[in-house]
Amino acid sequence: MPKIFGSIIDSESRCKHYHTGLDIIAIKFKCCQKYYPCYKCHNEHESHQIKRWPESQFNEHVIFCGACKHEMTINDYMLVENCPHCHSHFNQRCKFHYHLYFEI
Ligand SMILES: [Zn+2]
Ligand SMILES: [Zn+2]
Ligand SMILES: [Zn+2]
Repeated sequence: MPKIFGSIIDSESRCKHYHTGLDIIAIKFKCCQKYYPCYKCHNEHESHQIKRWPESQFNEHVIFCGACKHEMTINDYMLVENCPHCHSHFNQRCKFHYHLYFEI
């Protein structure tokens, strides 16, 4: 199981910034290869700028479901509204932040 960095407040990868019932995702950042639950956590704990995932690497397993600990690809994640493994709902508002994580 990967280590999740940042300001984690529970075992399902919620953080102090995003902690509704739906906020169970962590993302591995391309720049530091560390899992953080959100970009704010990344920026508070790292001194470098976020490097986004290019489309050519959307098949990397870098999205982590905090509920079942399943790792999925960026392509998988962008297609679904629930975890393909445990069917937990994801926060659909994360879509508004895709450009911070992915080159789209
Ligand atoms: Zn980084
Ligand atoms: Zn956070
Ligand atoms: Zn899951």
